[in-house]
Amino acid sequence: MTRFRTDRTFAAELDAGDLLASCRTRFHIPRRADGREVIYFCGNSLGLQPRSALGFVEQELKDWARLGVEGHFHAKNPWMPYHEVLTAQTARLVGAKPVEVVVMNTLTVNLHLMLVSFYRPTASRHKIVIEANAFPSDRYAVESQIKFHGLDPASSLLELQPRGGEMMLRTEDIISRIEQEGEAIALVMLGGVNYYNGQAFAMGAIAHAAHAQGCIAGYDLAHAAGNIPLRLHDWNADFAVWCSYKYLNGGPGTLAGCFVHERHAENYKLPRFAGWWGHNKETRFLMKPEFQPIPGAEGWQLSNPPILQLAALRASMEIFDETGMEVLRKKSVLLTGYLEFLLDQLVENSLTIITPRNPDQRGAQLSFRLHRNAREVFTELTARGVICDWREPDIIRVAPVPLYNTFTDVYEFVRVLGEELETGDPPSL
Ligand SMILES: *Cc1c(COP(=O)(O)O)cnc(C)c1O
Repeated sequence: MTRFRTDRTFAAELDAGDLLASCRTRFHIPRRADGREVIYFCGNSLGLQPRSALGFVEQELKDWARLGVEGHFHAKNPWMPYHEVLTAQTARLVGAKPVEVVVMNTLTVNLHLMLVSFYRPTASRHKIVIEANAFPSDRYAVESQIKFHGLDPASSLLELQPRGGEMMLRTEDIISRIEQEGEAIALVMLGGVNYYNGQAFAMGAIAHAAHAQGCIAGYDLAHAAGNIPLRLHDWNADFAVWCSYKYLNGGPGTLAGCFVHERHAENYKLPRFAGWWGHNKETRFLMKPEFQPIPGAEGWQLSNPPILQLAALRASMEIFDETGMEVLRKKSVLLTGYLEFLLDQLVENSLTIITPRNPDQRGAQLSFRLHRNAREVFTELTARGVICDWREPDIIRVAPVPLYNTFTDVYEFVRVLGEELETGDPPSL
C-alpha cells in the first residue's frame, strides 16, 4: 500500500516511477486557448484520440480511392473480414473466447439485439432486474422491451435501490433480492460499473446467483470495458454489451462490442433479429433466402460494418493489447487512490465522495457531491482548463485514466478544485 503525501514533489515522484508514462505521448491531449494541455478527466465519456488513429483511417481512405469496391478483397486490410482483426484483441480485453465476441453496431442497438434473444418472458417469469440510477438508455431499452412483449414495466421492471442512507448497492442485498424473487425474474441486467457513482458490481457472484434461480445474466460494460479487468467467460455471463468511445478511445460514436457466452454459440433456437452479415461467410454471397447464422457472437451481426470507424478503433485496441489490462489496472488503482487521498484533504464538508472507497468496487472514476455552489465551481473548473463531467444536481465525475493521465494531472486538479472550494480555510495543499 503506497503512503501518499500532499506535496507536489510527490506527484512528480509518482510520475517518474510510472512505467506507463510514455503511453501518454501516444495520444493527442487537447489544449487550452493559451496552448497548455488541459487536465482531461473525461475518458469515461469520450476517450482521447490515439496519434496512430489518423494513419489507420487514412489507409482505408486511400484504399477506397485506389480500389473502389475491390477494396473489399484487395485493400491492404481487406474490408470483408476487417472486423475480425479486432476479435482476438477484444476477446483478451473482456476475458472471452474469440467465438464469444464481435464488434458491431452501437451499444444500445446491441443491447436491444441481446434482449430480443435473451429476454423471453413468460406469464410467471417476466421481470428484468436493473440497478436504480441505471444509464437512461439502458432503462429506456429494457422498458421498451417489456412493453414490446405486452407487459407493464410497473410490474416487470425491478429496480434495485441501495439501503436507506447508503449510496451503493451491497452485493449481499443484490443476491438476496435475486433469491427472493428468482422465480419471477427472467433477466438480471446490471451495468458492470455504474456510470453515476462508479460502483463496480461483483459480476461473477451476481451471474452465479441469477443462474441458480434460472435467470439470464447480462451486463452493460460501457463503463467497465477498458477500465477494469473482465473475465466474462469465467463469470459465465450470458451476454454483455459495451461501447468503444469511452475508456476504449475508439472515437465519437464508434462501434460497440458484444459478448455472447460460448454455450449459446450454436443455439439457433434463440430468437434473433437477423441480417446478412450474421450469415455463414461461406455462403453469404450466394444470396440465398434461408438464414444460416455464423456460430457465436458474429451470428448476431446485421450489416457490413463502417470501416473508417473500425480503423480508428484499431489504433486504440493495439495500445490496449500491447499494454494489457492487468498493468493498466495496477496504475489505475494507484492513480484513483491518490485522487481520493488528495480529495480527502480538502476543506471539511465541502464534498462527499459517493463512489465506493474499496478499490475492488470501483474503476478509475470517482464521483463526488459538492455541498456548496456546485454549478459555479464546475463552471470555474472548465474555464480553468479542467475537463470533467457534471451530473445534476450537484455531482462531478472525474476519471483519471491510466493510459494518458498523470499523477501531476491529479495533483493539479485537486489544487484547482481546492482553490475554487475555498471558504476561508485555505486547503492544505
Ligand atoms: C454511455 C452509455 C450508453 C450510451 O449508449 P449509446 O448507444 O452508445 O449511445 C448506454 N448505456 C450506458 C451504461 C452507458 O454508459
